[in-house]
Amino acid sequence: MTQPCLIVRFSETTLKGRNRAMFERRMVQNIGAHLQSHGDYRLHRQFARLTVNGGGDLSLALDILKGLPGIANLSLAHPVPRDIDALSLAAVAYLGRVLEQSPRTGTDPIAFKMEVARKDKTYPLNSMEVASRLGRDVLAAYPQLKVDLDHPRLVVHVEILGDTAMLFERKVPGPGGLAVGSSGKAVCLLSGGIDSPVAAHIMMTRGVRVVYLNFHSYPFIGEQSKEKVRDLVRFLARFQPASRLYFAPFAATQTAIRDRCPEGLRTLLYRRMMNRVANQVVRRERAGALITGEAVGQVASQTLPNLHTIAETAEWPVLQPLIGQSKQEIIERARRIGTYPISIQPYPDCCTLFQPRRPETRAKPDALRRAEVGLPVDALVAECLEGLEWTDYGPEYYPADWSA
Ligand code: ATP
Ligand code: MG
Repeated sequence: MTQPCLIVRFSETTLKGRNRAMFERRMVQNIGAHLQSHGDYRLHRQFARLTVNGGGDLSLALDILKGLPGIANLSLAHPVPRDIDALSLAAVAYLGRVLEQSPRTGTDPIAFKMEVARKDKTYPLNSMEVASRLGRDVLAAYPQLKVDLDHPRLVVHVEILGDTAMLFERKVPGPGGLAVGSSGKAVCLLSGGIDSPVAAHIMMTRGVRVVYLNFHSYPFIGEQSKEKVRDLVRFLARFQPASRLYFAPFAATQTAIRDRCPEGLRTLLYRRMMNRVANQVVRRERAGALITGEAVGQVASQTLPNLHTIAETAEWPVLQPLIGQSKQEIIERARRIGTYPISIQPYPDCCTLFQPRRPETRAKPDALRRAEVGLPVDALVAECLEGLEWTDYGPEYYPADWSA
């Protein structure tokens, strides 16, 4: 039998025309970038899917790609001739090996189903005809099988493509969504908490390439807090081909706010200053939006009036993909993505610095503007921008059970 290959199926098949072509091109580029340093894989595109051949470990490729936005599902498959007689022989041989690996226990017949998808509609037989021919030949070869279309224990999938057919047992689900980069770029305000990494991940699965921006208050807050943010970005770098992390020094701004503004407004003033700096990073990166991990009602700064006073300082759309989710839902999502164990490491975020004893929960934009009169806003923003440091991360990969 020929060498196995990996079939990668793209999602969002409702996309049409040029959008679809663009999405698929981006998908292939991303897959290539993620596999590049792991082996000499060859990629071949047909029928809204990609086959990945040889030159490297295919289980590793599957493990790397199963998290990639835009992938609907993947299968480790065997290419076989698609001519019906040769296909039937191959299916019988394939099933023989499958049965060898998981033999029958007891004397009950094994419930079995042949699932045929004819992707190339010019193939002379339709899916039903292929299924019944292969089913008949397979049953003749293995009397321990019985066909059960509703509750099969064993499913053999057959896909008929342009020049070959594929046999496989499983479809491993991917995250779906769109290929990163097919919906432009946005700057994510990444705190190191639980929420913002999840927000970044959701937007990546909507095809947005994410640039990260963290505000840190070194030396009030230690190097470990920065390392935690780096860990998060390194982890999230498995989902897009290129990730940039900016650190903006925020100690001077926070000190000025502490010294010159009403205590109850501090957190809101911090967030407003972050937005002003982020506005410029969006320009610098030629991005089109901000992303935050805000959710209504989660903390004092996230009441509707407070969200309004924060958003007022953003010059770009603020994407808040978690806005209607509960903390529990967000935590579950962080666990599934894999960021949770990093996020809960107990290093402080700058928002906890000089925290007000009684934060204002219903601040009016006027009150904030008044509070900012005594603040050298432009100079502080300029200082943050001058102090920006950044690092680029390639498509990193950690094994599935990796945790910080
Ligand atoms: P998170 O879990 O993301 O920290 P949170 O529920 O703790 O969110 P806040 O601390 O009020 O809420 O932060 C709200 C949002 O503001 C964050 O999700 C993030 O997008 C942004 N943010 C807060 N602190 C920082 C920071 N130090 N650097 C960059 N962005 C930040
Ligand atoms: Mg936070």
